[in-house]
Amino acid sequence: MKIIADKDLKKLKLKIDNASDVLITTHVNADGDAIGSTLALAFILKKLSKRVMIITPNDFPGFLQWMPGQELINVDFKNPGKTKDWAEKADLIFAVDYNDPKRLKKAEEIILKSQAFKVLIDHHPFPVKFANLAISVTKVGSTAELLYYLICDLGFSHLIDKDIATCLYTGIMTDTGCFSYSCSYPEVFNVTAELLKYGIDKDQIYSNVYDNFTDSRMKLMGYCLYEKMVVLPEFNTAYISITEEELKKFNHLPGDTEGFVNLPFSIKGIRFTALFLEKKEFIKISFRSRGNFNVNEFSSRYFNGGGHKNAAGGEMRQSMENTLKHFRELMPEFREQLL
Ligand code: 5GP
Ligand code: MN
Repeated sequence: MKIIADKDLKKLKLKIDNASDVLITTHVNADGDAIGSTLALAFILKKLSKRVMIITPNDFPGFLQWMPGQELINVDFKNPGKTKDWAEKADLIFAVDYNDPKRLKKAEEIILKSQAFKVLIDHHPFPVKFANLAISVTKVGSTAELLYYLICDLGFSHLIDKDIATCLYTGIMTDTGCFSYSCSYPEVFNVTAELLKYGIDKDQIYSNVYDNFTDSRMKLMGYCLYEKMVVLPEFNTAYISITEEELKKFNHLPGDTEGFVNLPFSIKGIRFTALFLEKKEFIKISFRSRGNFNVNEFSSRYFNGGGHKNAAGGEMRQSMENTLKHFRELMPEFREQLL
């Protein structure tokens, strides 16, 4: 798909040609698209003889730790000094799979301060202006797919190998819920077909991501469905809330609640779901919808967040009780849209 403007490609090509040290950043609670895209980009740049490092603001899930190139990732909160060194020496910084520098958490300040040329590669709507060059395409289902077009348009497709194809495929697979949403256009399947030609093992990738949990995660899921799911049939809505204590009880690991927000969609008629997770200083919320209800707008208006039309997140610096109350009180206003 030809979606990136030639003038942007030209500019980026020049910046890459002239760069020696490149820092790649992605969002807090990195997912398969974030890790897949940053690793694929890092591999391409390494093949172009650049020195490369990736930062994630916090730990990323165990179900992504099989991916090639882990040693290139610095988890910022564990080693902020390394982020600082790289932010200072980098010629080029990529912002991958996020639209707002706030999503870098503690690394935000140091990245914004850096003199490096900043390039955004992302598919979230309404990007905040902070990069020198923004390659922001909201009609693609994943950043990994966008990155594939970018690699090809820059003339680097000959550098793609099995590891890079594995990373890109993982991003596309996870951000489209295994090709169940955000992929109702033919090009995404063309890209996937191209990636398969590199000999990637798509069944193994699926298994690495989705059959890689602990038994306590499965028990936490069972507990959430049995004890914690609240269905509001009058609004075609269901939500799950989990406290810190409950997470502790089930020996929670990063990524363990990934996908929980989608579980209530298996109930006939449900069009809007939410997951409320109690963190130390705030409640982290995930929203998902089916159809026209725009959770991005809902989240940015009422829950200090954002995201996509059908998948968004937010935060509330309130108790769980107050956050849930706020959510339930908002529901009647949206009843019509949820029918
Ligand atoms: P998740 O619910 O999986 O954390 O996030 C769903 C989508 O919304 C992702 O695309 C994610 O990048 C975005 N998102 C999640 N939390 C926030 C937030 O607090 N602010 C913004 N702007 N986007 C978010
Ligand atoms: Mn993404």
